[in-house]
Amino acid sequence: MLEEMEEKNLSEGQTVLCLMAHPDDAEILAGGTLALLVKEGWKVAIASMTPGQAGSTQLNAEEISAVRRVEAEKAAMVIGGSYHCMEAEDVFIAYDRPTLLKVMELFRRVRPDLVITHSPQDYMLDHEITSHLAQTACMGATIPNIEIAGFQSLPTVPHLYYADAVQGKDRFGNEITGDIMVDITAVMDTKEQMLCCHQTQRDWLQYISKVDEFVIMMKSFSERNGRLINKPYAEGYRQHLGYSYPQDDLLGNALKELVHPLKMNG
Ligand SMILES: [Zn+2]
Repeated sequence: MLEEMEEKNLSEGQTVLCLMAHPDDAEILAGGTLALLVKEGWKVAIASMTPGQAGSTQLNAEEISAVRRVEAEKAAMVIGGSYHCMEAEDVFIAYDRPTLLKVMELFRRVRPDLVITHSPQDYMLDHEITSHLAQTACMGATIPNIEIAGFQSLPTVPHLYYADAVQGKDRFGNEITGDIMVDITAVMDTKEQMLCCHQTQRDWLQYISKVDEFVIMMKSFSERNGRLINKPYAEGYRQHLGYSYPQDDLLGNALKELVHPLKMNG
């Protein structure tokens, strides 16, 4: 209980938790929105399921994980956020009891009002499974009979939003477009700064492609979203509106005129 009280000062503003599969996913897909929420007084927690064991051809899994944990912490620190690692393994993220309990413990520790995770349709299963873990944890963390030592259940299900799939495509190459677009133009520099904390990944892609591909890819995708709302840069989201999840648009209420609902074609 004491630990829980220390983790969240209940008298302060609202909290967003961004749970993604790998270090750097949060910055690529949701960094701008997280930076905007901080400007509105929100607390930010960034979590990755893994420390990114697969992210190097030079360092072994343990070595690269140690480096990437520090990179992820630095990225979160750019906006005053905390970083949490669920200690799963790249390519092997599982939807099972031990993993769900870890994720639910994180939810009960951070006590988010709003959760951002991967699209349930994405280019790889690590992302899709993380999305399912987050969906279940939103609900499971509220159930008192699921006991986790030291942490009380959440009073209500947090608002859940799915970020864009990587490059906006599902496994069949079909386009997935968020129907909630957040204009991140004002914080694009911050998003880039957060992303560039993941130096090992930036260097790796630069080595392969001979250009700063890490930043170029992130910008071109943010531009693609931006074009849909006639702004330079945007991030897209879809809200989980299934039974028993909150139905009001907390993200829209928090960021007001920066959020543009997008009418979908067909
Ligand atoms: Zn990833």
